[in-house]
Amino acid sequence: MNPAPFLPFAGQRFAVVGLGRAGLPSARRLVEWGAEILCWDDGEAARAAATAAGLPVGDPSARAGFPFDALLLSPGIPHILPRVHPAAAAAKAAGVPVVCDAELLYRAVRAAGSRARFAGITGTNGKSTTTALVHHLLRRAGRDAEVGGNLGPAALGLPLLGDAGIYVLEMSSYMLERLVTLRFDIGVVLNLSPDHLDRHGGMDGYAGAKLHIFDRQHEGDLAVLGMDDAWGAHFAAGRAARVMPVSGQARQPGGIWAEGRLLRDDAGIIADLDTARALPGSHNAQNAAAATAVVLALGVPRDAIAAGLADFPGLPHRQETVGTLDGIAFVNDSKATNADSTARALASYGRVVLIAGGVPKAGGLEPLAQYFPRIAHAVLIGQSAPDFAATLAAHGVPHHVAGTLEAALPAALAAARDSGTGIVLLSPACASFDQFSGFDARGDAFRAQVASMMETV
Ligand code: ADP
Repeated sequence: MNPAPFLPFAGQRFAVVGLGRAGLPSARRLVEWGAEILCWDDGEAARAAATAAGLPVGDPSARAGFPFDALLLSPGIPHILPRVHPAAAAAKAAGVPVVCDAELLYRAVRAAGSRARFAGITGTNGKSTTTALVHHLLRRAGRDAEVGGNLGPAALGLPLLGDAGIYVLEMSSYMLERLVTLRFDIGVVLNLSPDHLDRHGGMDGYAGAKLHIFDRQHEGDLAVLGMDDAWGAHFAAGRAARVMPVSGQARQPGGIWAEGRLLRDDAGIIADLDTARALPGSHNAQNAAAATAVVLALGVPRDAIAAGLADFPGLPHRQETVGTLDGIAFVNDSKATNADSTARALASYGRVVLIAGGVPKAGGLEPLAQYFPRIAHAVLIGQSAPDFAATLAAHGVPHHVAGTLEAALPAALAAARDSGTGIVLLSPACASFDQFSGFDARGDAFRAQVASMMETV
């Protein structure tokens, strides 16, 4: 006998707006789970793809009274600032909630009668690394864990887990603003620095969005807080959940922190981060401390955590060693699209040959000045090259302009050999759109070229 179909959204109507990476699989899942939906995207190609997938397409804001139970709005589309999307305006006028897909996953899991737990991870930097690390530590400890959200796959595309299951979700501030009932058993805020301020109306709005990760928590829950900036202490005040402070650099009584490269808590040393090859730098020590706090609370033993930190493979494009030639390691940090991220990478190594450039952010390379002595030589690419060259010249940093990544790599190898430097680091401090479709395409090109250099040498 077939089991009864699982239809948690039967009789409910959803408008699904934004049919990208998360929107399309979410729309399919909602239909599969019994909902009546209407899909929309402002782009014609995305609408055509939805139609081809057999999904009903139409503009929900044109429907009188916005006749839906909720609007599932893609995180990339604003519902408040800087400009309200018409669907969000129509939903608001009709008193219909705007939700994200994690909210709907939670509703479905609970409708299935499952007590699976939810861990949500946010912060300005380190979300993806920490989320992937938590998942890695849980999986290798044999736990039934699924990972998704902002780092993909879409939360609503994840399988249903039973009572012992754990969902590990990377939550962007945009997703956090669209929760209604989801309660995280464990919420993590790693850090906060100015980002996306146009969408949040300033720093207080941004911090307020992040704080939603702790909404509805009660005393049995856990709030993990990064204490390496002033926001951590600020967020700790008034938490209903147990607060677990974490740091990549300073002692945290009652919490988890790194002392040098030793990760520890009050009970003693948990792991030597020098064995964790994919987690260099004090920023990754913070990520490791946060991930450890999460999995310790979920019952993963200390020795299993140490082993899991050591064999965490890391994420592509984040200080990823993609090859070694003549003892020179090639590190792909293409995800570093601003000077702040490049500073983290430079702080993780001794001396490097740096490949940088692309579409610059405000301030250019100047915020990196304290790390300039670590740059044996800089090879510049992309439209920022003249500007970056001027900054480096003013500080006496050896450099030259290669223009393209293709030209930069052999030049960087030669510079590393000449200067006896063991690391060639692609950490552009820039967006990639002048020469690539995104940071991932830039990192993939770097990886492919290193591989072909290794073959031909
Ligand atoms: P996110 O998902 O929040 O963008 P990632 O894990 O993808 O974060 O890391 C992106 C970049 O942010 C890294 O390449 C690194 O430069 C920087 N970074 C990572 N973790 C931290 C941290 N805990 N604090 C500050 N910067 C970090």
